[in-house]
Amino acid sequence: MSAQKQFETRIIRPSDSDYEESFAAAVEALKAGETVAFPTETVYGLAAIYDSAEAVRKIYEVKGRPQDNPLIVHLYDFADLDRVVASCPADALRLWEEFAPGPLTLILPRHPLVPKEVSAGLATVAVRFPEHPLARDLIQAVGKPLVAPSANSSGRPSPTQALHVFADLAGKIPYILDGGECNWGLESTVLDLCQKPYRILRPGAISKRAIEALLGGSVLTAEKIAGEADAEAPVRAPGMKYKHYAPKIPVRMMAPQDQACLKAFQAEFKNPRVYLISSESLPILSSLEPELLPLVLNAEAGEIKPSAAYYLSYDEAKLAAQQLFAAFRQAEGFATAILVEAVKDVDLGPAFLNRLEKAAAE
Ligand code: AMP
Ligand code: MG
Repeated sequence: MSAQKQFETRIIRPSDSDYEESFAAAVEALKAGETVAFPTETVYGLAAIYDSAEAVRKIYEVKGRPQDNPLIVHLYDFADLDRVVASCPADALRLWEEFAPGPLTLILPRHPLVPKEVSAGLATVAVRFPEHPLARDLIQAVGKPLVAPSANSSGRPSPTQALHVFADLAGKIPYILDGGECNWGLESTVLDLCQKPYRILRPGAISKRAIEALLGGSVLTAEKIAGEADAEAPVRAPGMKYKHYAPKIPVRMMAPQDQACLKAFQAEFKNPRVYLISSESLPILSSLEPELLPLVLNAEAGEIKPSAAYYLSYDEAKLAAQQLFAAFRQAEGFATAILVEAVKDVDLGPAFLNRLEKAAAE
């Protein structure tokens, strides 16, 4: 493999006085086959133009991403669809009429002119229409679809702020467009329309319930795939087998309000400096004997406060999901372990749990 090019990575902010010039430079870099990080409403993406195999290969190189983990093509509007898919079933259009632009990725038959590197050799292609205004500006200015996975080093938590991208990829890419904190903080829902019944390969903000309501029929989930007998069959959801979203310190999860889980955690980590992510209504800590109380960190101040219960609080699943990856990265700086209480929300719960399970996997 060729030596990676070095860059002095620049973060471009809409508030910069020379924003228009800088934005134009990022567009030119993409057109010339470089990779550029950009904000979407899910997580930050690492973009390359969709029709250059060489540019697409740089994404894998920069991220250290396994070659068999395909990428998502990001489109500006329906007019671009013909360039990337061989055919588009009516159900795809029905779904996107409701959920696009937004965090719904559909798996469709790949157009023969889309380089196979985009799909890691598969006959299918993943497509979505991002909603973030800067993502839309960028695709429109480049004038063609952009291929992008999340803009983290492979295996790390996905970036939800420009500084997360900088931490992972500084020196490896020329530009990071800063669009603030991502609205969802979790990657898009991936729905495979190339097999029937349709399957959700990755849960995300567009829920199973919402998809089924729109289609008027049921869809399967990835959990069903894991339970199938044909374990030797080709991997249907490439990328799902890899370690994902993992901070540098151990992550454990607990069912809501589960005291037994908490005790097991305390037995595993003697005297940990714990970063706790839980609902404010978690009464467990105060119900324990004082010597069992872990150190709980004040997440906002970054202070260590022995025996003081402080929660990175959330009153709703959306905030928990939005903050999860950022909390992982913040915790690495000063904690020895992370304990996360799962959220119960029927729509966002599965996506939250999916990321948590992967982050907690050994
Ligand atoms: P990332 O954007 O980093 O979350 O990565 C994109 C994810 O989309 C991959 O990990 C895959 O799970 C999924 N994906 C992309 N293309 C395909 C495809 N053709 N078939 C199935 N899943 C895909
Ligand atoms: Mg990713």
